[in-house]
Amino acid sequence: MPNSGKKEVETAAAAMRQHAQIVLSVVVAGLLAVLVAGGTLTARQADRQATEASPRVAADLFEQWRVEAKVALLGFLREHVDGQSGAPAVNPPRGMSAALVVAGRVTIFPTAAGQGIPGETAILGQAAARIKADLAAGRTPASSVLEFKGDQGNLILVEPVRRPQGAGHVIAVAPVSLETLAPRFERTGLQGLAVLVGSVTEDQPFLRIGTTEDGTPVMLLWSRISSATELWQSLIPLMVVALLAMAAAILLSVRFSRRAGQLVGEIETQAFDRATRDPLTGLHNRSGFKMRLDQALERRLPDAVVGVLYLDLDRFKEVNDGFGHEAGDALLVAVTERLRRICGANVLISRLGGDEFAVVVERRVDPASVVALGDAISRELALPFILGSIEAVIGGSVGIAIAPDDGDDSTGLVRRADISMYRAKTAGRGLAVRFDPSMEDEIRRRKMMEAELRRAIDRNQLAVHYQPFLASDGETVVGVEALLRWNHPTEGMIAPSFFINLAEETGQIGEIGAWVMRKALEDAKRWPSLKLAINVSPVQFRAKDLVEKTVAMVREADIDPRRVEIEITEGVLMEDAESAIAIITALRKADMHVALDDFGTGYASLSYLRRFPFDKLKVDQAFVRNLGVTAGSAAIIHSVVSLGRSLGMTVHAEGVETLEQHIFLRAAGCHDFQGYYFARPMPADELDIYLTRHSVALPRFGMRA
Ligand code: C2E
Ligand code: CA
Ligand code: CA
Repeated sequence: MPNSGKKEVETAAAAMRQHAQIVLSVVVAGLLAVLVAGGTLTARQADRQATEASPRVAADLFEQWRVEAKVALLGFLREHVDGQSGAPAVNPPRGMSAALVVAGRVTIFPTAAGQGIPGETAILGQAAARIKADLAAGRTPASSVLEFKGDQGNLILVEPVRRPQGAGHVIAVAPVSLETLAPRFERTGLQGLAVLVGSVTEDQPFLRIGTTEDGTPVMLLWSRISSATELWQSLIPLMVVALLAMAAAILLSVRFSRRAGQLVGEIETQAFDRATRDPLTGLHNRSGFKMRLDQALERRLPDAVVGVLYLDLDRFKEVNDGFGHEAGDALLVAVTERLRRICGANVLISRLGGDEFAVVVERRVDPASVVALGDAISRELALPFILGSIEAVIGGSVGIAIAPDDGDDSTGLVRRADISMYRAKTAGRGLAVRFDPSMEDEIRRRKMMEAELRRAIDRNQLAVHYQPFLASDGETVVGVEALLRWNHPTEGMIAPSFFINLAEETGQIGEIGAWVMRKALEDAKRWPSLKLAINVSPVQFRAKDLVEKTVAMVREADIDPRRVEIEITEGVLMEDAESAIAIITALRKADMHVALDDFGTGYASLSYLRRFPFDKLKVDQAFVRNLGVTAGSAAIIHSVVSLGRSLGMTVHAEGVETLEQHIFLRAAGCHDFQGYYFARPMPADELDIYLTRHSVALPRFGMRA
């Protein structure tokens, strides 16, 4: 994941976490507040109820008398209040109740406004006495309980004993809040007598509370009806508000965190995409590929296979270097499209980097179909790509490894697919090759060879052989090409094609190349009139100090630089044309000659060649070999020769094996000839003998051809 992406995610995640914490805190605080409020209220209510309920006797009495007293009183009220003129409507507010128990007489007081109650104490005393007597006798006191419902805890009640003191007396009912009554009640301490008496007039309601201290069981009680219910009822608005607030908070926090989650998700997806996708093709990159492969292997059912196809484009570099990076990019996109078309849906395609792709296929017990897909890919990639005005034929080599046969872990599969791909490349490119255990032996052998090659120089196992090349008469030796040999103690003489690649890959080529050059320059002193052609690998060619080192070695060997011919292959031209031209020019400035080897095998077109100042063109053996076999080969040689000649280059034919070939090539206009028909590569000593039997060209290297 790129650093910026990672940072973004971290920052966003931190912000989200902070927000989530705030929202959570708000919710928790709200919840706590509700709990505290509810708890406080409940506790207060409990306290109040405890106060109200004690002493038990009062409550018991209340319960005992409640029903009958109520009935009696309602009757009384109906009798005495309803319909009475001037009597206020008994209209208790909702939700609250209060009860005044007056164990004693209900006194109907005169309504004289503002006056005290006449004979109040006496009345109470009498009532008390009566109740005491009733209680002592085990009778229910002829008293009354009135229970009103009302907001204000209102209540006034007086004894049910009819006191015919005249009309206009009413049962006094006046609003009074529990809060107002409570302190007074507390003052009386329930031990005493609390009789609430009062009377109201229409215009001046009043309330009075009288108390006595003598323990008369006359009580004033008040309570809510079903206090728990009411508590809850009173809490309902608060709770509704709290719940609404909480719901809102939760909703907000859910929405917020969902959005936050989405945002983090998006950023993460983007960052993840950046980390696992290739921006050019939109395919998974190496890490995306690895992850998907692991997943595919994990979910693989016992009867299913997972195929890994490693694909390397064979001549991508030539397009990229020859036509620029834009063409290279366009080619990669075109390859991607073609792969998508070949593979179809449900097949994972990744670009591992450069011109390497990988495909993961999940199939039911059908390894053959995976191999068939590999074949299809290599076949299709061999077809040309049209990129604007460019037609590119690149081809691709495919290596295939299939789980479970070829391993069931991604690392092993990938390695084996890679090995197979390498095999496909060395077996001639444009192929699809399935993994075979013998390939691993091959790899092991290569590893061993690599170690041995390292020691080969020290152990004097490397040698340089020389193959003469001749003038068109086929008699006069013009020069020799230095060809490397490895005289392996057990494998025998190993041809360079087996180990030059290895040396290039392992970086040993620099040392080996320098050794060949030094040795060849040394040997060449024996043949002062002959040219000396030395092969330089693209890896050597790209090294900064090639010119410098070569010049130094030539000087050290005290060889006329004009005798030296440096052979390079097309590959180096395609990779970086500008610096290739610079190096070629520098070598020529140092009076050496430069030859283009194996011309015609690579991508360089005839017209492309004009850009490079070569002294010599070596027509590849393949064209010579195909003479008389393939229809166009004669025509090709004709055009190559005429082009080379027109550019002032020496045209050199390689791989001449027959007299016929020699005759044809001579007629075509080639200058130099090399091949088994004339001589095979040989050690310096043998060349000495060979040269005694052949004429040697007069030094002609003084002039440029
Ligand atoms: P090359 O530069 O094209 O060398 C010519 C190759 O063709 C030599 O193979 C030579 O033995 C072979 N040859 C010559 N005449 C004939 C013929 O008539 N018929 C056939 N079939 N083959 C012929 P060799 O020696 O095996 O070298 C193979 C390649 O290895 C060379 O191809 C060259 O690219 C590379 N090489 C050889 N020595 C060196 C070296 O010192 N440094 C570098 N970098 N590469 C070298
Ligand atoms: Ca050569
Ligand atoms: Ca060659």
